[in-house]
Amino acid sequence: MEREMHKGDWKCCGCGKAITELPFQPKITNNLTCRDCYASGKVAPKQNGGGERKMFEGDWKCSQCGNSITKLPFEPKGNANLTCIDCYKKSRA
Ligand SMILES: [Zn+2]
Ligand SMILES: [Zn+2]
Repeated sequence: MEREMHKGDWKCCGCGKAITELPFQPKITNNLTCRDCYASGKVAPKQNGGGERKMFEGDWKCSQCGNSITKLPFEPKGNANLTCIDCYKKSRA
C-alpha cells in the first residue's frame, strides 16, 4: 500500500538538504528533517513548536512548600524563587 506524499519545498534542519516530499503535512517547517537525518536519529526536533520538552535535572527546593524539585522544564539561574509543579499550578489557578 502506498502512502500519500505531501509535496512542497522545505529544508532539512539537520543537513540543509531540500525536502520535496513528506509523508505528512508539516505544521512547523523550521524543524523538518530529511529521511537520512531522520533515519540516523542525529537530529532532535527543536524546542520551539511543541514536541518533546527537554527537562533539566537537578536538586532544587521549592520556595513555597519546601519540597524538593528534581526536574524543571528550564535551567534555573539560581536557587531563589523556584516553585514545585504543585505550587506553580496553585499560583496560576
Ligand atoms: Zn538532513
Ligand atoms: Zn511547592
